[in-house]
Order: sequence, then C-alpha cells, then structure tokens
Amino acid sequence: MNEESHDPRRPLAIQGGLVLDASDFLGGVDVLVQDGIIVAVGARGMPVPDGAAVVDASRRLLHPGLVNAHTHGHANLARSMGDRFTLELLLAAAPHMSPYVSVEEKRVSATIGAAEMLLKGCTACYDLFVEFPLPTEDGIAAVAAAYAQVGMRAVIAPMMADMTLYEAIPGLMEALPPHLQTAVAPLSLPPWQETIERMRAILHSWHGDRTMVRPAVAPTIPLHCRDEFMVACRDLAVEYDVGIHTHLAESKVQAVAGVRRYGRSLTAHIEQLGLLEPRFVAAHGVWLDGDDMRLLGAHGASVAHNPASNMRLGNGVADAMGMLAAGINLAIGTDATTCNDNLNMYQALHFAAAASHARGPDPAQWITAPQVLSAATVGSARALGFDRIGRIAPGYAADIVFLDLDAPTLIPLNAPVTQLVLGEDGTSVVDVMVGGRFVVRQRRLLTVDLPALASRAAELRAEIDARCTDSLHRFDAVAPILCDFCPALARTEWHINRWCGCSD
Ligand SMILES: [Zn+2]
Repeated sequence: MNEESHDPRRPLAIQGGLVLDASDFLGGVDVLVQDGIIVAVGARGMPVPDGAAVVDASRRLLHPGLVNAHTHGHANLARSMGDRFTLELLLAAAPHMSPYVSVEEKRVSATIGAAEMLLKGCTACYDLFVEFPLPTEDGIAAVAAAYAQVGMRAVIAPMMADMTLYEAIPGLMEALPPHLQTAVAPLSLPPWQETIERMRAILHSWHGDRTMVRPAVAPTIPLHCRDEFMVACRDLAVEYDVGIHTHLAESKVQAVAGVRRYGRSLTAHIEQLGLLEPRFVAAHGVWLDGDDMRLLGAHGASVAHNPASNMRLGNGVADAMGMLAAGINLAIGTDATTCNDNLNMYQALHFAAAASHARGPDPAQWITAPQVLSAATVGSARALGFDRIGRIAPGYAADIVFLDLDAPTLIPLNAPVTQLVLGEDGTSVVDVMVGGRFVVRQRRLLTVDLPALASRAAELRAEIDARCTDSLHRFDAVAPILCDFCPALARTEWHINRWCGCSD
C-alpha cells in the first residue's frame, strides 16, 4: 500500500514491531490506528477490521513521538551564531541575531526547527517564539501555519516582556558608560498593557485546530516583566484556558538579581503573584532550591528541563531528581539552536541522564533511564497541555517513531529503554507518524523541500545581517561589560549554600 496517501478514516494495522510505551518495553505487539488515534495495542496477529491498511513494522522498534517541552522557533535562522555565550550575552545578541520583520522570516525559521525535530523523532514542541517589541497576529499565524504545514504538533507562545535585559538586571544599566546607555535606550519595550491587549487579540481570534497547534502565554523572564504584567499574563491564561510558560531561575545572575529585586527567590515571588498552577511551565529551574521545588510541586507545575542548554550557557546542572521528589511534573526540552545547538531530543535524553549522574557519585541519586523517557513523553505532553499524546496506548494520538533495529546503535538490542535514552542519536529513525499519517518515510521528510529551505534560509540570513550591522556593533561594545558585570554578580556569596545546590 501507499501509506502516504492513506485515508486517515481507514483503519491502519501496524504489525510485527517491537514497542516501547513511554517507559515500558512491551515487546512484540501490534498497533491498530483509526482516525489518527490508537484504538488497540495487542498481541501479534490480533484481528484487524476488514479493509484495514497494513504497515509492516518488522525489524522496527516503535516509541511514542518525543515531545520537546521548550524551544524557540525564531532562533533557527541564527543557529550557532555565538560560541562562548552566556545567557546574558545571548539575550543581548537577540537584536542582531533574530530581529525579524517579515512573516516569511518567521515562517522559514519555524520550518527549519519543525523539519529537524520531526526527522529526529520529535512530534510535538512548546515553542516560545519571539516577536519584539510586540506580538503580532500575522507573525503567530505564520508560525502556526509552518508547524501545520510541516506536520507536527506545537504550542506557540510569543515571548513578552516590558523591560530589557539592561533594565532587568539591577545595576547593569548604571554599569554602562553614557554613550552605551544611549545606544540601548531604543530597545526599550512598550507598556505592558499594550502587549497584553495584543496577546488578548491573538488568543481571541485563534481559529486554528487546537489538536495540532495551539497558543499559550509566555512572559519571558519574571525579572523582565513588572508584577502587574505577570499577573495580567496569568489572568489571560486562565481566561482563555491556555498554558503559561516562563524562564525561571535559569542563570545564577537571574537568581541573585531576583533576591535583590524581590527579597525572596523568583519562585517564591511568582507564587505570591498567583502564577503557579498546573498549566504553569518553568523553563530550566537550574537555581531552584528545595523550597522552590516544593512550591512548584505543591501547585502541580511543570519544569522544562534543558540540560544541554544549561551546560552550554554556563548556567549549571539542574536537579532533576530533586524536582521529581518534590512532585514537579518533569518535562524535557532542547532549548534553542542558538544555545544547544540542535533540536535533537535524543541528545536531550542523553544529557538529562548524564547531567544527573554528573551531580555526584551516588547512583541512588541519579535519574533512571525510564524516568527520563517518561519525562520526554508523558511529562512533556502534560507540560504542553496535550493530554493524549506521548504514549503508544489506546486513546492516544498515533504519533509514533519507527527505529531501524538494524541500525548500529540498536545492535544488539540488550536494554531498549537504556539504549534509547543513553545511546540513540537519531540515526536509527526511519519513519515518523503524526496523527496516523507518515510525515517521515524511509528517512525522508515528506512535507518540506529541504534544499529549497536551505537556499531561502541563507538568503534571509544574509538580508538580516546586512540590515543589522548597527545592532551587531552595539553588541560588540556592550559584550565586554556584560562579561565583567554578570560573572561578578554571579559570584555573590550570600546565600551560598542556598544557591550552590548542595544543601537546602
Ligand atoms: Zn528558552
């Protein structure tokens, strides 16, 4: 049969494969799909309805599509543009790296990421797209259309703020000489009320099919948003029943600045503002202490754990086991291609496990491979607010990745879950199905002309670089000051036990 033209209403029997359901290896079972939903998982040779199309999955290991709980679609046209970047340098570089003006730039950037994720076994993501100074309906529609066209699920949340990096970090603006204070002044953002009204209009007019792409609210970093703005974001998320996602305690600079600004941790502060609830996702959480984790857990919140980015930007190693112990819903993400520098969820799984091991020599304190896989499927799905993805089980969407059991990474198949979490690198991916439809077949992405995408991306990058030379020069002037100021702030020793991660 030709599955690419398969009628989704016709039952689809996937026969002869080995199946992993989230963290459990089910062995050899067949899977029946109808209308894009898994309707049965049963013994090999289980009866199938008359007229069912058959997919031969022999020599295939099936796992639920991985779910990327934190990425930034706008960053893909700026992939790997900074080498020794801290988070603060990355934020300062945004005006020359990803200052998009056209919907095509936004669409192409999002398409690159969607294509990469699907080819690497990821079928859904939480995308914190950026549209500064204000989110636009056209821009968000372009990003939503990109995901729909490529064929993956996404939650899209335009990042919003009402303070720049220079206003958010106490003392930073004063550390700049007057001519640089003048140079960064034009970056200042509109009053938060204007941003909220734009976001409200986007949510109000959202007409997409929410089974594939849905919106969410993302006050980007608490320090970059006035309290009233954070509260308004919370109210908007409640009013429209969408997720809310922010970067929380990502760098030590943020953690220290939070205590200076609020007199308490960032987490304690936003808990007081009423932000914490089950639809709340905190990205990173490297500098959470035990009290912070208990607060997040008690409110049923999620943390999107981005171990590769945390190391790449010098932010540290988050305590994923501590998060699980506190009852936090642990999700896993890649973060952006400007700070990882790929969107390979298999690599994120590996780093999530290895980073936990790197925290100390007691293996009883290490996250297990099944816990990591569960976090990257069921946990991330919950963070996205998609409650019926992330498993190969009846009632769940047929978002399924088919790995080649003759790929070297899986030879021999000794420990399927451990091999997937610690060993797989994406080279075993043969086919990827989303909602019962193949979008990757025989290692080829069916929905995107990649050479044409590469060509257009290169043209757009050249155009962006040509119009952003002033922003690049401003960054070059500011960067040495950030490289002095921020590490010095991060060396703050008060509360050292609180911040070092070694004690509560
Ligand atoms: Zn991020």
